[in-house]
Amino acid sequence: MDNYEKNWLNKRPQRLCKMCGRCCRASTTSNSYEKLVKMAEAGDEGARDFLGVFEPYESVEAARAQDGELVDNILKELGTSEGVTFYGCKFIKEDNLCGNYENRPLLCRHCPSTPWAVVPPGCGFENWLMWKREEDKHKVRRAKEQLQELDLMVTSDPETLEKIAGVKQTIQKTIDMHKKHGSDYW
Ligand code: SF4
Ligand code: SF4
Repeated sequence: MDNYEKNWLNKRPQRLCKMCGRCCRASTTSNSYEKLVKMAEAGDEGARDFLGVFEPYESVEAARAQDGELVDNILKELGTSEGVTFYGCKFIKEDNLCGNYENRPLLCRHCPSTPWAVVPPGCGFENWLMWKREEDKHKVRRAKEQLQELDLMVTSDPETLEKIAGVKQTIQKTIDMHKKHGSDYW
């Protein structure tokens, strides 16, 4: 295991996983199935990994039959079921353990990959994700404060003004990268 991988795993307390297998039975991505296939054909590693383990359900109803609670949670988060494809892993076993454990791709090793991942109610990561989301919100609030502090700086020196504009742009990126999660209102 290289250092990069160790860092990832250090950030995720894997012991929290209850090994219920629910996230393996109903998952989705922000890309359509057709786009994923094209990305995989073009050599995108993430798309190839995903399609290497996950198979699309025929319909949202078919996914709901596997885990209605999780599917509805994800749809609620997305705000639509239009064009959404759900997937189930072909390696998940009856006892909820992974049948591909040693060779599971990074997307499985790094799950949940962001604090904003939608997990089923009762997932062992629920509280941890909530805590990580609060950390993100704190970062955004701090970024907004810094923008205000910069706005209050008084200078007419063009070089300084240019530097301030550059710093503001960088800070704004922190806010914008969380926009879809509501950072405008934090
Ligand atoms: S849903 Fe949560 S607790 Fe269950 S297997 Fe997935 S990560 Fe682990
Ligand atoms: S490969 Fe294993 S860990 Fe990954 S989704 Fe499938 S069953 Fe879950």
